[in-house]
Amino acid sequence: MEKTFAMISLGCAKNLVNSEQMLYLLSEAGYTLVPEADGADLAVVNTCGFIDAAKSEAIDNILEMAELKKAGRLGGLIVTGCLSERYKDSILSELPEIDAVLGVGSFGDIVAAADAVMAGGHLSRFASNSAPVDEIARVVSTGPSWAYLRIAEGCDNFCAFCAIPYIRGRYRSRPMENILEEARELAAHGVKELIVIAQDITRYGTDLYGKRSLAALCRELGKIEGVEWIRLHYLYPDQFDDELIDEIASNDKIVKYLDIPIQHINDAILKRMNRRGTGSEIRALFRTLRERIPGLVLRTSLIAGLPGEGEAEFEELCEFLKEARIERVGVFPFSPEEGTPAAKMEHVDAEEAQRRADLILQLQAEIMDAFCESFVGKTIRVLCLDYDEESELLVGRSWADSPDIDGLVFFEGGCTPGEMADVLINETDDGYLYGTQIGGAAC
Ligand code: SF4
Repeated sequence: MEKTFAMISLGCAKNLVNSEQMLYLLSEAGYTLVPEADGADLAVVNTCGFIDAAKSEAIDNILEMAELKKAGRLGGLIVTGCLSERYKDSILSELPEIDAVLGVGSFGDIVAAADAVMAGGHLSRFASNSAPVDEIARVVSTGPSWAYLRIAEGCDNFCAFCAIPYIRGRYRSRPMENILEEARELAAHGVKELIVIAQDITRYGTDLYGKRSLAALCRELGKIEGVEWIRLHYLYPDQFDDELIDEIASNDKIVKYLDIPIQHINDAILKRMNRRGTGSEIRALFRTLRERIPGLVLRTSLIAGLPGEGEAEFEELCEFLKEARIERVGVFPFSPEEGTPAAKMEHVDAEEAQRRADLILQLQAEIMDAFCESFVGKTIRVLCLDYDEESELLVGRSWADSPDIDGLVFFEGGCTPGEMADVLINETDDGYLYGTQIGGAAC
């Protein structure tokens, strides 16, 4: 008899990789993935528990599945991921509708959980969250042409506002040969863009090889046939060295787009938040990167309303943004996370933090619009992703766009999704670029 399951993957790209691993394990064990939980034997909710908003989203999804179960339209409910790990002592008593729960060290037990629930039982497993990273195969769900490549797990930085090190455990790099083997396999299946991810990729290799090894890894990834773009996500500002900057500048496959979360620019706040480095060092790094990597697009993330941020510190942050003209900025209002040092520090209320986050977005809108405008009249490389029925245009991402967080390029042309195209940009609108494929027949 067919056994079906639906998967709801919440949160970040790192969690998506865990979902993809569970998809693989369940499929190998004879479970069939279905698009909707309604009518399925099982639903797996792979949760995020990073900040309050993510927790609420996870709980809403769990409750929605619980309703289906109560109505007899879903067989069993399995909850995995960060929310399970963070609340392992209370999640089953608080949400008794859950049949099985797995922590972040136990994704590999998904089949045992599914079998137990199918047999009418329960299962709860929380292996260490700091054990070596599980090398589990996965079903890539991001499409044929791009995939995330996770190179490490956990985080040792212990920023004062962040719960990740407590949830995801200590920093553990994956062995380089395993990463390269996975990358080769992805390329052999048509993946052209590898998005290298971890909480902090600059620290890669320090635990396994006793030295920072991201530059060496990128060098090897660049040699893989079929890989055209390597995108680097989450570089810690104080971990750049000359070797890494040179590798980024000289390796044609590394897209000149770097995601360097800085969180704030004020020295006292950075120190209080246990961030290494000062505002001047961040300014100097950005200047150096722009000098040595022509055409560089920078992305960062910020937190508005951090403990210690008064009007003057917020003003300093805004002034920095006006001067640095960072092309891509994400901003969160401060969320005091239980168990973190920052939650116990005095801070502005949620409404004020949100107001400041909105002000930053307004300020950045002009910078981002000007950046989009700078593409008009230029021909840029685009990874074609799909055909958009509504606009009747092809849609893709340029090297300056990361999935989900940046813009898209809509264009007329003759390429097929999964292919790269050169697109002449004619106009922009609200963060999106519009153009025509060069040398491609009209679709
Ligand atoms: S670097 Fe800081 S903010 Fe990022 S995951 Fe680690 S502790 Fe959290």
